Amino acid sequence: MTTTMVKAENVHKSFGHVEVLKGIDLEVTNGEVFCILGPSGSGKSTFLRCINHLERVDGGRLSVDGKLIGYREEGDKLYEMHEREVAAQRRDIGMVFQRFNLFPHMTALENVMEAPVQVRGEPKAAARKLGLELLDRVGLAERAGNYPAELSGGQQQRVAIARALAMKPKLMLFDEPTSALDPELVGEVLDVMKDLARDGMTMIVVTHEIGFAREVADTVVFMDGGVIVEAGKPADVLGNPQHVRTKAFLSKVL
Ligand code: ADP
Ligand code: MG
Repeated sequence: MTTTMVKAENVHKSFGHVEVLKGIDLEVTNGEVFCILGPSGSGKSTFLRCINHLERVDGGRLSVDGKLIGYREEGDKLYEMHEREVAAQRRDIGMVFQRFNLFPHMTALENVMEAPVQVRGEPKAAARKLGLELLDRVGLAERAGNYPAELSGGQQQRVAIARALAMKPKLMLFDEPTSALDPELVGEVLDVMKDLARDGMTMIVVTHEIGFAREVADTVVFMDGGVIVEAGKPADVLGNPQHVRTKAFLSKVL
């Protein structure tokens, strides 16, 4: 049985007078790898940030695992969610950014242990055990005691992925996770993401890595100007794009 993990219905978002999301409709099912492509400024990050409560949707409906994001529904009225409920929703969603944002004064292991200990109140020993497992999973067991400055960009990003996984999220959001990396470090991060995908993690990935999208995605959407222009299987959207804007974009990045 497939269940819906993320559902967006006519999602709108403006900054002042500028409408950045102009009615996004999409559905991500449990276990799916969902890639979002599109030119800079098309609203990709804003959409991910809405899912993770970093921005507030101002029109339409956005839900994760059957629950509206940011709002409580009573009858046909919507009320803003309490901070506590927002925090609970955010705990279930992991996010990895272009910039790794690791805590510089903490070791790799301490970075991964931080949220389980501080947010979930886990005993340090248990958080440490999980942290070491996760670092091993991203290929960094030997680097547990290193500080971010002692790690390459690719290693830092892998720690950031382990840190997000430490909260046992049901959904992972990736916002151009390899865009800030030197080309020779991109592969090791994509490999970790492929491994996660194989493990059944539900993932929304904003990326310019067409090879990754072709190989790993179940669904690819092309976003431009705050709307989804084209959506479908990677072989169709990437191999046989229908829309002129998708074709133009792909001809630039391929
Ligand atoms: P993408 O990730 O596709 O490059 P973004 O979602 O970052 O696009 O941005 C879409 C548009 O929204 C851009 O024009 C950007 O300048 C604008 N924007 C994003 N965040 C803000 C903000 N906090 N305030 C004002 N404008 C914003
Ligand atoms: Mg962006």
